Amino acid sequence: METIKLHHLHPFLLSNEAEVIHIDQIRGLVLDQSVAYAESGGQLGDQGKISFKNGNTNKELPFHDTQKGEGRLLLLKDFPAIPVQTPTYHQLSPEHLSKFYVGQKVKVQVDFQRRLLLTISHSGIHLVLMGLEAKYPGLYSAIRGCSIKPEGARLDFSTDQKFTDEDVCFVQDFVQNQILLNKQMFVYQHAAEPEAWFWQMDDYIIPCGGCHLTETGYIGTVSVKKKSLGRSMQRISFTFKDYQIPEFYEI
Ligand SMILES: [Zn+2]
Repeated sequence: METIKLHHLHPFLLSNEAEVIHIDQIRGLVLDQSVAYAESGGQLGDQGKISFKNGNTNKELPFHDTQKGEGRLLLLKDFPAIPVQTPTYHQLSPEHLSKFYVGQKVKVQVDFQRRLLLTISHSGIHLVLMGLEAKYPGLYSAIRGCSIKPEGARLDFSTDQKFTDEDVCFVQDFVQNQILLNKQMFVYQHAAEPEAWFWQMDDYIIPCGGCHLTETGYIGTVSVKKKSLGRSMQRISFTFKDYQIPEFYEI
């Protein structure tokens, strides 16, 4: 059982027609294809609504989370071991879930504002990591946690390197400068696996299949912070404001 994940090839598409292919009373509704992003890589799953025809009326029910099910584990030398060909579970309340049946034609639509904020938050944390790595090369391999929420994002590193106020200023200036330059950000597929994606800005490339902006300028103004989580665990987080809404989203 697999859901075709439309956000990879159509990152700014916000709705699609689909068919219900499975219903799990705990995990939710599985569709044959969906624009909704299932939580992974630290980025929260999408919320939104699923609509269908009920006689002559159109019924619309909310889903409050999107999660990945089990799939094939990707084993490539140059890419992290991620599950691919997974079903995407759209989580609805039990009462709402009972309105669906396998084979039903539906329309899924993600919450635009939340997806936009997650996309900005996600793109911004890439710039934060780039800034940190400009000062501490190789820090990518020390990442132990990543959390990307609508209000901001954070990275936790297993490192004895305690970040200083100067580090925070350096990263903040680095990120703000990239935003000012309105740099282009790219994604591209792994040659051997269509679900394995890379993110690139300048000559900086990392594996990532999340939701990204196309240019840095949309991010706006950022505020970078640090926190020590003990002797060998350090956190860097950021929030943003004054962001711009890209004009190419398709409702
Ligand atoms: Zn990413």
